[in-house]
Amino acid sequence: MEVSFFGSRVQALSMDQVDAYLEEALVQGKKTRIYTPNTEIVMEAKDKAWIRDLVNSGDLRLADGIGLVIGAKMKKIPLEERVTGFDVSIHLLKLAQREGYKVYFLGAKEGIAQRAAQEVEGDYPGLVVGSHHGYYEKSSLDQDLTQDEEEIIEEIQRLQADIVFVGLGFPVQEVFIHKASQRLGRGVWIGNGGVLDILAK
Ligand code: UDP
Repeated sequence: MEVSFFGSRVQALSMDQVDAYLEEALVQGKKTRIYTPNTEIVMEAKDKAWIRDLVNSGDLRLADGIGLVIGAKMKKIPLEERVTGFDVSIHLLKLAQREGYKVYFLGAKEGIAQRAAQEVEGDYPGLVVGSHHGYYEKSSLDQDLTQDEEEIIEEIQRLQADIVFVGLGFPVQEVFIHKASQRLGRGVWIGNGGVLDILAK
Protein backbone atom coordinates (compact mmCIF):
# COMPACT_ATOMS: atom_id res chain seq x y z
CA MET A 1 0.00 0.00 0.00
CA GLU A 2 1.16 3.54 -0.76
CA VAL A 3 0.36 7.00 0.51
CA SER A 4 0.73 10.02 -1.77
CA PHE A 5 1.88 13.33 -0.32
CA PHE A 6 1.47 15.99 -3.01
CA GLY A 7 2.44 13.37 -5.59
CA SER A 8 5.38 11.83 -3.71
CA ARG A 9 4.42 8.21 -3.07
CA VAL A 10 5.59 6.61 0.15
CA GLN A 11 5.12 2.90 0.86
CA ALA A 12 3.47 1.59 4.00
CA LEU A 13 6.09 -1.00 5.01
CA SER A 14 7.22 -2.20 8.40
CA MET A 15 10.88 -2.65 9.26
CA ASP A 16 10.39 -6.43 9.01
CA GLN A 17 8.98 -6.09 5.51
CA VAL A 18 11.90 -3.86 4.52
CA ASP A 19 14.36 -6.41 5.90
CA ALA A 20 12.70 -9.20 3.93
CA TYR A 21 12.77 -7.10 0.74
CA LEU A 22 16.46 -6.29 1.16
CA GLU A 23 17.49 -9.86 1.94
CA GLU A 24 15.78 -11.04 -1.22
CA ALA A 25 17.16 -8.17 -3.33
CA LEU A 26 20.72 -8.93 -2.23
CA VAL A 27 20.39 -12.65 -2.88
CA GLN A 28 19.07 -11.93 -6.36
CA GLY A 29 21.54 -9.10 -7.06
CA LYS A 30 18.57 -6.87 -7.83
CA LYS A 31 19.29 -3.15 -8.22
CA THR A 32 17.58 -1.40 -5.30
CA ARG A 33 17.32 2.34 -4.70
CA ILE A 34 16.22 3.30 -1.19
CA TYR A 35 14.94 6.82 -0.60
CA THR A 36 13.58 8.05 2.70
CA PRO A 37 11.46 11.17 2.20
CA ASN A 38 10.44 13.39 5.08
CA THR A 39 8.06 16.36 5.23
CA GLU A 40 10.68 18.82 3.94
CA ILE A 41 11.41 16.66 0.92
CA VAL A 42 7.74 16.13 0.12
CA MET A 43 7.17 19.90 0.30
CA GLU A 44 10.11 20.60 -1.98
CA ALA A 45 8.92 17.95 -4.44
CA LYS A 46 5.41 19.40 -4.48
CA ASP A 47 6.16 21.98 -7.17
CA LYS A 48 9.11 20.26 -8.82
CA ALA A 49 8.11 17.40 -11.07
CA TRP A 50 11.69 16.21 -11.58
CA ILE A 51 12.21 15.76 -7.82
CA ARG A 52 8.85 14.00 -7.48
CA ASP A 53 9.69 11.64 -10.34
CA LEU A 54 13.10 10.99 -8.83
CA VAL A 55 11.65 10.14 -5.40
CA ASN A 56 8.96 7.98 -6.99
CA SER A 57 11.55 6.05 -9.01
CA GLY A 58 12.94 4.62 -5.76
CA ASP A 59 12.33 0.90 -5.24
CA LEU A 60 11.84 1.54 -1.55
CA ARG A 61 10.32 4.88 -0.52
CA LEU A 62 10.08 5.00 3.24
CA ALA A 63 8.66 7.64 5.52
CA ASP A 64 11.60 9.06 7.45
CA GLY A 65 9.80 11.50 9.68
CA ILE A 66 7.00 11.48 12.13
CA GLY A 67 5.26 14.23 10.10
CA LEU A 68 4.51 11.81 7.27
CA VAL A 69 3.40 9.08 9.67
CA ILE A 70 0.89 11.51 11.21
CA GLY A 71 -0.10 12.79 7.75
CA ALA A 72 -0.81 9.24 6.59
CA LYS A 73 -2.96 8.58 9.63
CA MET A 74 -5.02 11.65 8.76
CA LYS A 75 -5.47 10.28 5.25
CA LYS A 76 -6.72 7.04 6.82
CA ILE A 77 -3.92 5.02 5.25
CA PRO A 78 -1.72 4.33 8.25
CA LEU A 79 1.93 3.64 7.55
CA GLU A 80 2.88 0.61 9.59
CA GLU A 81 5.57 2.55 11.38
CA ARG A 82 8.22 5.17 10.85
CA VAL A 83 11.16 3.46 9.15
CA THR A 84 14.10 5.84 9.19
CA GLY A 85 17.11 5.95 6.89
CA PHE A 86 19.28 5.47 9.93
CA ASP A 87 17.49 2.30 11.05
CA VAL A 88 17.56 0.82 7.55
CA SER A 89 21.28 1.65 7.31
CA ILE A 90 22.04 -0.18 10.55
CA HIS A 91 19.96 -3.16 9.44
CA LEU A 92 21.92 -3.22 6.18
CA LEU A 93 25.22 -3.30 8.08
CA LYS A 94 23.99 -6.22 10.19
CA LEU A 95 22.70 -8.07 7.14
CA ALA A 96 26.00 -7.48 5.33
CA GLN A 97 27.91 -8.85 8.28
CA ARG A 98 25.70 -11.91 8.57
CA GLU A 99 25.74 -12.77 4.87
CA GLY A 100 29.17 -11.47 3.88
CA TYR A 101 28.13 -8.55 1.67
CA LYS A 102 30.49 -5.67 0.94
CA VAL A 103 29.67 -2.08 1.85
CA TYR A 104 30.96 1.22 0.42
CA PHE A 105 30.58 4.63 2.09
CA LEU A 106 30.22 7.79 -0.01
CA GLY A 107 29.63 11.26 1.39
CA ALA A 108 30.27 13.79 4.15
CA LYS A 109 33.33 15.95 4.70
CA GLU A 110 36.88 14.77 4.03
CA GLY A 111 37.87 12.08 6.54
CA ILE A 112 34.37 11.38 7.89
CA ALA A 113 33.45 8.45 5.63
CA GLN A 114 36.85 6.93 6.37
CA ARG A 115 36.36 7.39 10.12
CA ALA A 116 32.84 5.92 9.89
CA ALA A 117 34.34 2.94 8.07
CA GLN A 118 36.94 2.47 10.81
CA GLU A 119 34.23 2.63 13.51
CA VAL A 120 32.10 0.05 11.72
CA GLU A 121 35.16 -2.12 11.04
CA GLY A 122 35.71 -2.26 14.81
CA ASP A 123 32.42 -4.12 15.16
CA TYR A 124 32.34 -5.83 11.77
CA PRO A 125 35.84 -6.45 10.35
CA GLY A 126 36.10 -6.65 6.57
CA LEU A 127 32.68 -5.15 5.98
CA VAL A 128 33.51 -1.73 4.53
CA VAL A 129 35.56 -2.16 1.38
CA GLY A 130 35.99 1.52 0.51
CA SER A 131 34.95 5.10 1.16
CA HIS A 132 35.03 8.55 -0.46
CA HIS A 133 34.14 12.01 0.82
CA GLY A 134 31.19 13.90 -0.64
CA TYR A 135 32.86 17.07 -1.88
CA TYR A 136 33.69 16.51 -5.54
CA GLU A 137 32.35 17.79 -8.85
CA LYS A 138 28.77 16.61 -9.38
CA SER A 139 26.50 16.50 -12.41
CA SER A 140 22.81 17.31 -12.38
CA LEU A 141 20.21 14.76 -13.41
CA ASP A 142 20.22 15.66 -17.12
CA GLN A 143 23.99 16.00 -17.48
CA ASP A 144 26.70 13.44 -18.22
CA LEU A 145 28.59 12.06 -15.24
CA THR A 146 31.61 14.14 -14.23
CA GLN A 147 35.11 12.68 -14.20
CA ASP A 148 34.97 12.53 -10.39
CA GLU A 149 31.69 10.61 -10.49
CA GLU A 150 33.02 8.23 -13.16
CA GLU A 151 35.99 7.45 -10.91
CA ILE A 152 33.84 6.87 -7.82
CA ILE A 153 31.50 4.56 -9.74
CA GLU A 154 34.48 2.66 -11.16
CA GLU A 155 35.85 2.20 -7.66
CA ILE A 156 32.50 0.91 -6.37
CA GLN A 157 32.47 -1.55 -9.27
CA ARG A 158 36.10 -2.59 -8.86
CA LEU A 159 35.60 -3.25 -5.14
CA GLN A 160 32.41 -5.17 -5.93
CA ALA A 161 30.40 -3.36 -3.27
CA ASP A 162 26.94 -4.85 -2.78
CA ILE A 163 25.60 -2.02 -0.62
CA VAL A 164 26.40 1.68 -1.03
CA PHE A 165 25.66 4.36 1.57
CA VAL A 166 25.26 7.73 -0.18
CA GLY A 167 25.17 10.67 2.22
CA LEU A 168 25.31 13.82 0.10
CA GLY A 169 22.11 15.52 1.26
CA PHE A 170 18.81 15.70 -0.65
CA PRO A 171 18.37 15.65 -3.65
CA VAL A 172 22.04 15.36 -4.63
CA GLN A 173 22.30 11.84 -3.19
CA GLU A 174 19.16 10.70 -5.02
CA VAL A 175 20.53 12.06 -8.31
CA PHE A 176 23.80 10.19 -7.80
CA ILE A 177 22.04 6.96 -6.85
CA HIS A 178 19.79 7.21 -9.88
CA LYS A 179 22.70 7.57 -12.28
CA ALA A 180 25.22 5.27 -10.60
CA SER A 181 22.78 2.40 -10.10
CA GLN A 182 21.70 2.72 -13.71
CA ARG A 183 25.32 2.49 -14.81
CA LEU A 184 26.14 -0.57 -12.69
CA GLY A 185 22.74 -2.26 -12.86
CA ARG A 186 23.09 -3.83 -9.45
CA GLY A 187 23.57 -3.09 -5.77
CA VAL A 188 21.53 -1.77 -2.89
CA TRP A 189 21.89 2.02 -2.72
CA ILE A 190 20.59 4.09 0.16
CA GLY A 191 20.42 7.88 0.29
CA ASN A 192 21.02 8.38 3.98
CA GLY A 193 21.94 12.04 4.59
CA GLY A 194 23.99 12.47 7.74
CA VAL A 195 24.30 8.78 8.67
CA LEU A 196 28.06 8.74 8.02
CA ASP A 197 28.50 11.71 10.35
CA ILE A 198 26.68 9.78 13.06
CA LEU A 199 28.67 6.59 12.50
CA ALA A 200 31.95 8.52 12.52
CA LYS A 201 31.77 9.76 16.08
N1 UDP B 1 27.31 16.61 1.94
C1 UDP B 1 28.26 16.12 1.05
N2 UDP B 1 28.52 16.82 -0.08
C2 UDP B 1 27.88 17.98 -0.37
C3 UDP B 1 26.90 18.46 0.52
C4 UDP B 1 26.63 17.75 1.68
O1 UDP B 1 28.85 15.08 1.27
O2 UDP B 1 28.16 18.56 -1.42
C5 UDP B 1 27.06 15.84 3.15
C6 UDP B 1 27.21 16.59 4.44
O3 UDP B 1 28.58 16.71 4.78
C7 UDP B 1 26.44 15.70 5.38
C8 UDP B 1 25.34 15.11 4.49
O4 UDP B 1 25.73 15.42 3.15
O5 UDP B 1 27.24 14.64 5.80
C9 UDP B 1 23.96 15.65 4.75
O6 UDP B 1 24.01 17.00 4.54
P1 UDP B 1 22.84 17.98 4.96
O7 UDP B 1 22.58 17.77 6.41
O8 UDP B 1 23.19 19.34 4.47
O9 UDP B 1 21.64 17.44 4.07
P2 UDP B 1 20.20 16.88 4.42
O10 UDP B 1 20.34 15.37 4.54
O11 UDP B 1 19.73 17.55 5.69
O12 UDP B 1 19.41 17.26 3.21
